[in-house]
Amino acid sequence: MAEAQLWQEKAPPRTPERPGRLEAAPSGLLLAERDTRPKIAIVIDDVGLDWERFQAVNRLPVPATLAFLPYGIDAQRMLDSTDPRHSTILHMPMEPKRRKHHAGPGAVKAGTAEQIRRAVNGQIDKLSGYRGVNSHTGSAITENKRAMQTVLSTLSSHGLYFLDSKTTPGSQAAKAGEAINTFVLEADLFLDGDFGRSGSAHVLKQLALLEAIAKRQGSAIGIGHPYPSTIRTLNDWAMEKRVDLRFVTTDQLADEARASRSEVGF
Ligand SMILES: [Zn+2]
Repeated sequence: MAEAQLWQEKAPPRTPERPGRLEAAPSGLLLAERDTRPKIAIVIDDVGLDWERFQAVNRLPVPATLAFLPYGIDAQRMLDSTDPRHSTILHMPMEPKRRKHHAGPGAVKAGTAEQIRRAVNGQIDKLSGYRGVNSHTGSAITENKRAMQTVLSTLSSHGLYFLDSKTTPGSQAAKAGEAINTFVLEADLFLDGDFGRSGSAHVLKQLALLEAIAKRQGSAIGIGHPYPSTIRTLNDWAMEKRVDLRFVTTDQLADEARASRSEVGF
């Protein structure tokens, strides 16, 4: 009792103006720092071609990352109307390994460093208002370390980070990043495939796997597409999991990667 009285006497007087607001800020910060829930980043590729699909993704009940194809006629308008809880990235067309996959106009192809730089700059100029990039198709480039070094150095000269979708086990993106001293985010798995034909059961299996990876690693990144079955399944799963898991965007993971690099002296 005596101690409590002493503490009360020595405690600084409360600021009369907006006391609630002053108290709320520091405790909120502490809560964020102590949040040890596994982090899940959901990325939805191929957004920007269809308003209805965009709106379904935009309505997801948890933060997600929307990857916009730059050649969608309304892609910039959709990007500008994205809910602020989400992040937006550029879904950059890059040369595929298999001919049947069409990357899209102006795709980044293997060539001289100057040709690659010009193609990357051409793509990133098509949209604005995003902080990161991932690739639409692109295995022929991500498997090519020299080409990836040029892609990554061009992106980092614009302050943009790269998320490697890992469409190929032979991806050289992380090694190229190390060579030029920049970080690369890496996706852990795809949530769907086959134009959504694999259906809800497959998406749920992949989400369970993503959750297990996040629990083991602390964070995990899963990539899906705006197929109605994927978004419906994701929506229900996220509603169920949003208390146990911490849904983050790739912008947040990139900020954390930058902060931890500056701590270790990069
Ligand atoms: Zn794509």
